[in-house]
Amino acid sequence: MDTKLKAPRYCLQCDDGAILEHGVRDITLTVHGVKYTVPGISGWHCPKCGECEFDPGEGKRHSAELDQMIRDRQAREIRAIRKKLGLKQSEAGALFGGGVSAFSEYERGKTQAHKSTLLLFRLLDTHPELMRELTL
Ligand SMILES: [Zn+2]
Repeated sequence: MDTKLKAPRYCLQCDDGAILEHGVRDITLTVHGVKYTVPGISGWHCPKCGECEFDPGEGKRHSAELDQMIRDRQAREIRAIRKKLGLKQSEAGALFGGGVSAFSEYERGKTQAHKSTLLLFRLLDTHPELMRELTL
């Protein structure tokens, strides 16, 4: 398909008539303060704001790859904090809920920890002395 013969596509996010460019680009997003880059996304990209109108199938692929990156990062974070707190996976599951295999699944990226578990872990990462309050 010769895209040059088609009418220009305008960015729906920019109000000043920015024209989208078709191509393959890396897309970087910030989620909960962390930057993630999904490489090689085909679609119509805005050179001003970075928005993208995905080509067929690319939105799904982008979403799946981004979700996996977030899960992998969360898995590493939970594992690091659990080890810092000196807990076995089974002990963490008993204390924070989810059962014996919950932390094994979180740390392999099989499932995501509940947001409250992640927030509590981050709190304990900064204030490990609070573990005393939980285990008494
Ligand atoms: Zn734009």
